[in-house]
Amino acid sequence: MTAAALSKTLADVFGYASFRQGQEQVIAAVQAGQDALVLMPTGGGKSLCYQLPAIMGDGVTLVVSPLISLMQDQVESLQTMGVAAAALHNGLDTEQQHEIMQDAAQGIVKLLYVSPERALQGYFMRQLQQWPITLIAIDEAHCISQWGHDFRPEYGQLGQLREALPNIPFMALTATADAATEADIVQRLHLHEPEIFKSSFDRPNIRYIVEEKYKPQKQLRDYIAKQKGASGIVYCGSRKKVEDLAERLRNDGIRARGYHARLPHEEREEVLRGFVRDDIDVVVATVAFGMGINKPNVRFVIHFDVPRSIEAYYQETGRAGRDGLPAEAVLLYDPSDAGWIRSMINDHPDEQRRQVELHKFSAMQALGEAQTCRRLVLLNYFNEFRDKTCGNCDICLDPPRQYDGTTDAQKVLSCIYRVGQRFGANHIIDVLRGSQSQRLTALGHEQLSTFGIGAEQSQSYWLSIIRQLIHRGLVLQNIQHYGTLQLTEAARPVLRGEVALQLAEPRINLAVSKPKVTDRADYDKLLFRRLRALR
Ligand code: ADP
Ligand code: MG
Repeated sequence: MTAAALSKTLADVFGYASFRQGQEQVIAAVQAGQDALVLMPTGGGKSLCYQLPAIMGDGVTLVVSPLISLMQDQVESLQTMGVAAAALHNGLDTEQQHEIMQDAAQGIVKLLYVSPERALQGYFMRQLQQWPITLIAIDEAHCISQWGHDFRPEYGQLGQLREALPNIPFMALTATADAATEADIVQRLHLHEPEIFKSSFDRPNIRYIVEEKYKPQKQLRDYIAKQKGASGIVYCGSRKKVEDLAERLRNDGIRARGYHARLPHEEREEVLRGFVRDDIDVVVATVAFGMGINKPNVRFVIHFDVPRSIEAYYQETGRAGRDGLPAEAVLLYDPSDAGWIRSMINDHPDEQRRQVELHKFSAMQALGEAQTCRRLVLLNYFNEFRDKTCGNCDICLDPPRQYDGTTDAQKVLSCIYRVGQRFGANHIIDVLRGSQSQRLTALGHEQLSTFGIGAEQSQSYWLSIIRQLIHRGLVLQNIQHYGTLQLTEAARPVLRGEVALQLAEPRINLAVSKPKVTDRADYDKLLFRRLRALR
């Protein structure tokens, strides 16, 4: 097939003016009868790599896909373009299934979508051997690998399909490209000397932002209020949070809905459709919402909770800005969430799985805590190296300024010491800021020398300092014990003033609310206490 013929079909059927990066080369390999492994980021245009040759070829292309909704999406849009496509799944009655099988046998259906379970059925495989199959495409192929973040056992057995059809070219497609997953796909599918296509994983139109999570509800609502009805997805870690947040947003007048796996099927469909049609602006969801959502104008993806791996984060953020227009990915990051996740992973009974998950989560944590360009950290993870920073992420736009944080550190450390290393961050901050609270009074903590020595800074300022001290190993957060803060050996020289400590200037600085100081005498008392504590 000539390049001109391909371009013509591209324009006539799909209405696209040109190929995206990599598509043409993949199609050429398929037409030469070669196996291919296609690694392209989410939204990169993987489907076209098998759809176009399928439309132009004589036979049937079998597409294995993990979700019925994914299949239906593609089938529907192909049918609107006038392409004979069908999906075989158990939601159809026997007669409908029979009809589709007949059409496939005669090569009337150009693209047939099936689940991996179906593809592996003995009866179905024997039928396949009789049909004019020209290509087998395995979409979302990372599901094959235990190293992937979305392992599905049936996917792991798809090598059997290869054995049943040894002479048909296979194409595996995924947006996950760490080396282990890649090797696993090739091996488990028994791909024959596959051509490996890997396009850049960069999504230049997505701005990556990590915000310290300090008042998450307020941060979320403020952000969404500023979006003025743009489409977005908010991912969070539990079904309860999904429902709770969606409701709060609705109370704010946002057209928001929740989505998670426990909702009735009809409701999930309704939310998905409403979102695609722009009747719903914001979907608050668990990870159940996602794979293959083909909505081009998602302007933002917010992670209310930190995901477990960079792959998951990248797939989820990749749903933003598929139309190529500017979009944002915002991660609300709280290092103590990371502590909890780690302890949960550590409870995993399977040792190998535990190691894999810890490794993956460490990389995610490093991204959240990075002080260098987020895009570089991300691309690095996908084995794509650059030396230029992106100039567009939160770090590039607003590099953390270093300052001599010795005094701030001493204030925090001495405060932790004075309260007997038995309290968490919020309590320490209350003491530092000299908050008037009954709890402090009841504990006698307003008598402490450190009471009020940090009154000039905001709550979030001190939280940031405390977190940095945790990262730097001066403070230990005991997550087994209500997150109480304790000093480590490394804190001593700083406390004694023997070494200086450079810290990053806190990135968040909300309006400082100073404790009320009513008269001059109070002020002197406060000042006196502060000075004494500093000595
Ligand atoms: P992936 O499976 O890689 O995540 P899709 O195949 O779903 O991505 O494609 C993402 C979007 O890009 C779709 O809306 C698709 O129609 C569009 N697209 C794909 N190829 C092209 C092209 N050559 N020109 C314009 N748009 C394209
Ligand atoms: Mg896809």
